[in-house]
Amino acid sequence: MSKKRKIRVKTAIVEIDGDEMTRIMWQMVKDKLLLLHLDMKLEYYDLHVKHRDETDDQVTVDAAKAIMKYGVGVKCSTITPNEERVREYKLKKAWRSPNGVIRGMLDGTVFRKPIITKNIRPLVSTWKKPIIVGRHAYGDVYSNTEISATGAGTAELVFTPADGGNSVSRTIKEFTGPGIIQGIHNTDASIESFACACFTFALDQKVDLWFSAKDTISKIYDARFRDIFAREYENNWREKFHRAGREYLFTLIDDATARIMKHEGGILWALKNYDGDVLSDMIAQAFGSLAMMTSVLVSPRGHFEYEAAHGTVQKHYYKHLQGEETSTNSTALIFAWSGCLRKRGELDRTQEVSSFADKLEAAVIETVEAGTMTGDLLAVANPSPHNRKVNTEAFIDAIAANLQQKL
Ligand code: NAP
Ligand code: MG
Repeated sequence: MSKKRKIRVKTAIVEIDGDEMTRIMWQMVKDKLLLLHLDMKLEYYDLHVKHRDETDDQVTVDAAKAIMKYGVGVKCSTITPNEERVREYKLKKAWRSPNGVIRGMLDGTVFRKPIITKNIRPLVSTWKKPIIVGRHAYGDVYSNTEISATGAGTAELVFTPADGGNSVSRTIKEFTGPGIIQGIHNTDASIESFACACFTFALDQKVDLWFSAKDTISKIYDARFRDIFAREYENNWREKFHRAGREYLFTLIDDATARIMKHEGGILWALKNYDGDVLSDMIAQAFGSLAMMTSVLVSPRGHFEYEAAHGTVQKHYYKHLQGEETSTNSTALIFAWSGCLRKRGELDRTQEVSSFADKLEAAVIETVEAGTMTGDLLAVANPSPHNRKVNTEAFIDAIAANLQQKL
């Protein structure tokens, strides 16, 4: 054990705890990789599903407010309750997705970037460089309003201007039998900040930017996204992209999805909320594992929330509860912490903290490259006599040993 003085993190970090297997790994990561080396103050919010229930989800709102206050937070994966979870945890109701609540409050864009190691080749053979997904984190189906049509009847879409102007209404459907109806929305302001965040991030990462939507079918909704991106590009980014030798491309979502399969990567792909949710998981998995992906929410007001993109790994948790050994990958959780610490160091101008984050990430990559890995990675890694599958805790211990040598 190192007798060295701990590295001081100047500003408090907003820590948002979660559920199931990720909650167990979260504690191990803190104990074995962070608290031994860092002197940091944590503003702790427990988003365990039972605690959300006890507080009528106030704790989620408080966590989002704390990120706005301190600027940087880190979040563990959490259960989004459905009817099954309501029964399992005896909840008062199926609370909204905590990510949905926090993103709705912070607004902004989620950037997801694969974590690449030398010994894991992407399943798509043409991919040579990371494909970064920029997912709009506001509106659409995540803050929808839904109703069931109980039988024959009329569904209408109505907008009533606040300034007293005439209402506008459209018939959605004349139902002749039962059905379903959904209303979704977005705001120009949020789309503008989404576009701006994507252009900024593409230049920062030195990659081309693609934006894709279904504007041929959705001639007002998706077309508004297309037009705002185009306007933002012409007004503020064309010159900068030209100077950096980068390109902006708008194309249909189906065209982009087809193209990406034969592309070499090294792009930022901006996607609407739902498209980004689905495609980022596909991309992470194709780069090796759901756990090999970083995810950060960047709000237009300069707040950052780092998280793992994957869920709470429920199946592994149930095995763990039955006393069976698990081999669950903590990489995305560790990179959530390292991302958060690097940003904190940058904002506080504490180089030592940022450099700790670099060392932590390097320790993870080197562990995997040396062949010590969890089951998800072993299944896709290049064969080598050094490869060995380790359990959840042993993986973190191996990283801890590597990290120790770097400090
Ligand atoms: P999941 O937790 O992402 O896991 C799906 C499967 O992916 C796992 O069964 C496992 O496959 C593999 N996997 C995911 N993360 C892994 C890791 N770190 N290491 C090794 N394998 C990993 O999705 P889910 O089981 O559908 O969802 C469970 C809960 O998570 C749900 O209640 C959902 O609401 C919530 N969720 C939360 C977030 C978030 O907070 N960020 C995101 C998505 C879902 P094998 O079983 O084949 O090993
Ligand atoms: Mg998803």
